Amino acid sequence: MSSLAKNYNRKKISFKKGKGSFLYSTNGKKYLDFLSGIAVNSLGHSNPYLVKALNKQAKKIWHVSNAFLIPEGERLAKRLTQKTFADYVMFQNSGTEATEAAIKVARRYFYSKGKPNKNRILCIKNSFHGRTLAAIFASGSKKMTEGFGPKVEGFDHFKYGDHKSLKKAITSKTAAIMVETIMGENGIKVIPDWCLRDLRKICNKKKILLILDEVQCGIGRTGKFFAFEHAKIKPDIVPIAKGIGGGFPIGAVLMTKKAASGINYPGTHGSTFGGNPLAMSVGNAVLDQIFKKGFLKNVEKISKYFHNELNKIKSSYPELIKEVRGKGLLIGLQLFNDQTKFIKRLMENKLLTIRAGENVVRILPPLNVKKKEINLAIKIIKKVCKEYS
Ligand SMILES: *Cc1c(COP(=O)(O)O)cnc(C)c1O
Repeated sequence: MSSLAKNYNRKKISFKKGKGSFLYSTNGKKYLDFLSGIAVNSLGHSNPYLVKALNKQAKKIWHVSNAFLIPEGERLAKRLTQKTFADYVMFQNSGTEATEAAIKVARRYFYSKGKPNKNRILCIKNSFHGRTLAAIFASGSKKMTEGFGPKVEGFDHFKYGDHKSLKKAITSKTAAIMVETIMGENGIKVIPDWCLRDLRKICNKKKILLILDEVQCGIGRTGKFFAFEHAKIKPDIVPIAKGIGGGFPIGAVLMTKKAASGINYPGTHGSTFGGNPLAMSVGNAVLDQIFKKGFLKNVEKISKYFHNELNKIKSSYPELIKEVRGKGLLIGLQLFNDQTKFIKRLMENKLLTIRAGENVVRILPPLNVKKKEINLAIKIIKKVCKEYS
């Protein structure tokens, strides 16, 4: 009997090693890993460059307190700001800490402007921002909040795609709108570029902050460093995590100088582990790869091929597959019916994927996936589709 709590529904399979896009199980089987630890192993397993960076740093220094200067973190923050909208970065250890920090940043901004009552955050109903108390109530999902009361106050909700309900929900107390640029857990729902631009306009007009949660869709996953770049807009605050560590736990909140103005003296926020030298060295190594000339172009190119192939399968099985969703290598295969058995069949055929809301099979290959690996996945997906017809 396992001594682990029962909060996961684990597949009865474990792995002894990973290499690139493949995982090797303890019972001697080889799997094509197209879930990448849910968008975490952005550069595949045991990436030699990352292994080298981690080992090199491990021999020097793992951890020092944020009471001291940390050059590796200075460097990572500098690179993140030079390549993006942001002026400042605060490092955390996970996605939910990053979204919490984003909420804190937004509230402190208005507090420091003498508007402490302007503190409410407007989110999409049934979105996903992580599992801390604030984050579950930000998501407004019944399933995630059930039994975890009292309710954390300060969050309002509007319906995905309902611009009228969005506009109605903004009050004089609204400090920020926080949405996932692409909704991950709840079914790989892409917010169209024109909607993102509209969101930006609304926030400008109402003088409130725009928080785009890029924990899942950021760090190159869609073929741009951030998914919102497709819409050519600039948010005020962006929490990131998952892909930036390539498997090492790192979170961060990126923000403009203006949005960061409430974080104005020591003690306004903090983290014991956040930004330690080991994490920062791995983060820098991930950026070395993702910022390489042509890397993101290749994500774009190879993902177009993948989407094309998946759409061909959809055309062949129109009664099984409802929609091919997503952007870049954040892909959702939406079925008409429950996807559990489909995912199980893919796994039995040595392709690993993971579920998302709305009957979606979530497909998240590493960003450096090879074309022949995509072809292998296509072959397996076709085979499983064929069984259904
Ligand atoms: C995964 C995720 C989070 C939470 O990240 P954790 O590292 O699990 O805390 C937050 N927001 C989005 C959009 C996510 O996909």
